[in-house]
Amino acid sequence: MTTDTALYPAERLARVADAVRAAGLDVLLLTPGPDLRYVTGYDAKQLERLTCLAIPADPGKDPFLLVPRLELKAAQASPAGALDLEIVTWGETALPFGIIKKRVGEPRSVGLSDRMWALHVLQFADAFSRASQHLASTVLSPLRIRKSAAEVGALLAAGEAIDRVHANVPGWLRPGLTERQVGARIAEAILAEGHVQVDFVIVGSGPNAAAPHHEVSDRVIEDGDVGVVDIGGTMPSGYCSDCTRTYAVGHAPDEFLAYYEVLKRAQDAATASVRPGVTAESVDRTAREVIALAGYGEWFIHRTGHGIGLESHEDPYIVEGNAVPLEAGMAFSIEPGIYPGPHGARIEDIVVCADPAATGSGYKRLNNAPRELVIV
Ligand code: ZN
Ligand code: ZN
Ligand code: ZN
Repeated sequence: MTTDTALYPAERLARVADAVRAAGLDVLLLTPGPDLRYVTGYDAKQLERLTCLAIPADPGKDPFLLVPRLELKAAQASPAGALDLEIVTWGETALPFGIIKKRVGEPRSVGLSDRMWALHVLQFADAFSRASQHLASTVLSPLRIRKSAAEVGALLAAGEAIDRVHANVPGWLRPGLTERQVGARIAEAILAEGHVQVDFVIVGSGPNAAAPHHEVSDRVIEDGDVGVVDIGGTMPSGYCSDCTRTYAVGHAPDEFLAYYEVLKRAQDAATASVRPGVTAESVDRTAREVIALAGYGEWFIHRTGHGIGLESHEDPYIVEGNAVPLEAGMAFSIEPGIYPGPHGARIEDIVVCADPAATGSGYKRLNNAPRELVIV
């Protein structure tokens, strides 16, 4: 069995058609993006020319993949080419929405991939003027949220790749270099370690460490700085990495060392609380309680984590208000942070919920770079 067929099994298409029926939608329409890739393995380019997988609920109507003629070879060469799936092409002067309409009829409800461009959403609204539009995630999220063994393997490979990048960060985070220079080396390493795409590089040094979504700047790193390094990319499998470590350059201020220890305890406690049946929000609360008890609650200003898979942010979100019970196979980040200024810290690992009966533990960390403070 090749990686592709394990990651993108041929029977998934039929399972999704069942889910479309169960959700009460008449047809699911997926344009290029993570939803299309999940169902078919096809990593199609997002273009103004319409590529669309149509999955009708009616078992009498077969799913089909509509592609621009010039994309046919790419579609056939992708895992979609090996599926029991008709590939229909349209030429430059044809009307692709009309081709879909002719085949699926007059649906009353359509599901559209969450990342479909408005350019296509509005044309589908015109083509199917009697249909209500719904997000494809109502059908696909319950499937995508529980990772198969092959998907967990792909996320683990992504985690190992980003861990290898972090192992080299201490050599690059040096006084005299700018955040942008350090970020450029990290971006190169993300690709060198096996990713096909750099998704984000955050190097927050000095006061920028207190801004959770700072990216890079021309600030020159100084002795005594704290550096928050949050990095991730996409692997050839389609699966993403995301890992944060906080470093101290030369030495660390005492007040920083005090809250870094609290943060590490919070991250450990939240991770250790993961097991099937525990809710997403209770994992958030576990992290928050440790930080609040130590007096830093007001400086933990974001949710504890987010799901990860074919997207670096997806369900389940580890946040107050999300009462979803965790299940084996759910993969998400645990990334509490404390940002009091003039510095800040975050520690982030990807964790997968596991069946304790099978694995001896309710969770497995997919990142294993040291969480003890690294002084570079
Ligand atoms: Zn984030
Ligand atoms: Zn991150
Ligand atoms: Zn993250």
